[in-house]
This record gives sequence, structure tokens and C-alpha cells, in this order.
Amino acid sequence: MYDLLIKGGRIIDPSQRIDGVMDVAVSGATIAAVMPNIDPRGIANVIDATGRIVTPGLIDLHTHVYDGFLNNGVSPDMAGVNQGVTTVVDGGSAGHAIFEGFPRYVVPAAQTDVFCFLHIGSFGLAVMPELVQREEIDVEATEAVIAKHPDLIRGVKLRIVGKLIASEGISVVETAQKTAKKHHLPLMIHIGDRNRWIPPALTRELLPLLETGDVLSHYCTNQSGRLLTEDGIPVPELMAAKERGVVLDVANGINNFSYAVARKMMAEGLFPTTLSTDVNKTSITGPAYGLTVTMSKFLELGVPFEEMIAMTTTRPAKAVGIDDRKGSLKPGMDADISILEIRTGRWPLPDSHQEILNVTRLIRPVMTVKAGVPIQPLCVPIKEQIQS
Ligand SMILES: [Zn+2]
Repeated sequence: MYDLLIKGGRIIDPSQRIDGVMDVAVSGATIAAVMPNIDPRGIANVIDATGRIVTPGLIDLHTHVYDGFLNNGVSPDMAGVNQGVTTVVDGGSAGHAIFEGFPRYVVPAAQTDVFCFLHIGSFGLAVMPELVQREEIDVEATEAVIAKHPDLIRGVKLRIVGKLIASEGISVVETAQKTAKKHHLPLMIHIGDRNRWIPPALTRELLPLLETGDVLSHYCTNQSGRLLTEDGIPVPELMAAKERGVVLDVANGINNFSYAVARKMMAEGLFPTTLSTDVNKTSITGPAYGLTVTMSKFLELGVPFEEMIAMTTTRPAKAVGIDDRKGSLKPGMDADISILEIRTGRWPLPDSHQEILNVTRLIRPVMTVKAGVPIQPLCVPIKEQIQS
């Protein structure tokens, strides 16, 4: 017997190539069935999703949720279930020396599932820009923490900023890459250097090092180290990386997302592999807000809605190796489900470079189902521009 039925919504599940009006039935914390016209009789909890979109629980591949430990950490549930997102991935807030708070306090306190990239620097993002000297990297201690928390730590993080990389260059990337690969994990690389300490050419130099499944964050940055040539076209190394299966991630954030660069990338076929927010305590009230807002921006920039659902479900699940249980509505998967609506109007949404995009369709979460439990999202309201 089913415990929960979501009835009459437009189901979009890229993992099963489903796009149509159907019902989703849940037993306990597991998806039980996806089919048309499931009989609601005898089911305790029936949600009417008529006119809504029902997707696998959205996954935000880049957030900062070390709440209570780092001053920019937002709570996982603010970035997660309150935004219609059932799984958040922390983008390297912590290094080995300060990681233990995640499993001990942050993860157990959250309804949202949390996974982490472990920063290669001992203290993560506790002081930014991080990595001033080589002593801040302790490979042995980093590996010990990875080995201790294999379920939680799904990758290694390095930002191409700071004095150490400015002086030592590519060898720091190689150290992080080697550490990740030894544990069969992806490396997540942040590009975009506001301080301009790093020679911009280093980004092009590091791209050939990235392997299938590694994550390139902020690929639409317009800061120093961006991935456009002087003529404004994507660097050839980026196209080659995409073809190898490197994940091009948006990581909206505060400093490293440009609509102009995104348009140039997409004009050359370099669509994002995944959409993510890079949301933290500051940017949750804008410009990042939450994942459905980043999705709305890309809907306006021309990404088809169905493809965007793949960018926020199946693909991020695969990127962190949780696609055996998340990112899909196949029977037997975790009962993580997002119910969304598309509003029409006019919302002026900024990038990180003072450009405003007037978004005409805003995607908003209506209900989040986490492990079979319906949760009412409480996301930050976005000011609509009323036309006179
Ligand atoms: Zn980040």
C-alpha cells in the first residue's frame, strides 16, 4: 500500500525519459510507482499537483552550508528543502582540520541531504583567500579524513586563488588532483580570481589536467582567469574538456557569474552540464537566492526546461556518485521529489557584473518531498517588477 500520492502533475524525469501527466506513489521513504491514474482510495496523504511540475528531488551541486562553523555558512535546509532542493553539496567550505563538525552537527540537524567536497587546504574557507603557504596542505591528514567519511565526502576542492598558487602555479593543482584520484573522487576547481594574483593563463594550463567527472566551477565567470580568449570566444581547451566529460558547473554565487559570458558559451554549444547556486549566508537574499532562481535565469537565457531538470537532477547525482538512489523517480529510489510551478511576470535578476536580466518566467518550489515527507518550502521572496 502507498503512503503518499502526488496526483495529476506534469512529471519530468530525465532518467526515465518521462515528460507527461502522471501520478507518483511513495511507500515509506521510497518511490513505489510512476504511472497514470493511480487510485487514490485508501492513501492517507494525497497531494493535488494539477498544473504543477513534478521532478526528482533537485540537487544543488555547489552550496556553502557549514552553518555555525563558518560565518558565510547558510543552513542546509535554507539552501535545500526550503528552496525545493532535497540534496545540497557543500563546495569545499571545510578542509581536514575543521571537517568534523559536518558529520557531528550539521548533517544530523538537517532534513536536506548533505554531501561535501573536502577542501585541499587544511582550514577550507575559514579565512579567504585561503592557501597562503604550502604548509596549509597536508595530504596525509586530508586522505585520513576522506577515508573516515567516504559516504559524506564526494570530492576534493581547490580554488585557483591565493598566494600559494600565485607562487607555485600548476603544481598545487596537481597535488589536489592526485589526492582526489587516489580516492577515486572528482576534483572541483574554482576559477575566477578577483584579486588578480594568479596569471590568467593558468586556467588554460590546468584544463587539460581535468578528467572525466571533474567539476569546473564558475565556467561563466568574467573575472580574471575566465575561459574566453581576448577575442571573446571560448578557449579551445574548454571545448576539449567538455568533450572528455568534465562537468561545466554554473555556481551562480556573488562574484563569478556573467550573463554575457554565459551567452557566449552557449552560442558555441557550451551549455552547462549542471546548474548550481554557490549559495551562502549572504547570497541567499540575492543574487543567488536558491536553485530554482538560477534555473529561471537559464530558462530566460534559452536552456529548454526539460534539459534544465537533467542539469539539476540526474547529472549532479552522477557527479557526486549518488545516482544509485537520487536524481530519479524510478521505483526503489529515495522518495525525494520537487513540486514546482512556473509563474509569469517580470523579475529583474542580476548577475555578478551589474547586468540585469528581466526574467519572464520564475520557477518556484511549491512542495518539497524529502524521504517521503512533504515539506512546505520557505524561500526568500523575489521582488517582482510591476509594469505600469
Ligand atoms: Zn563556492
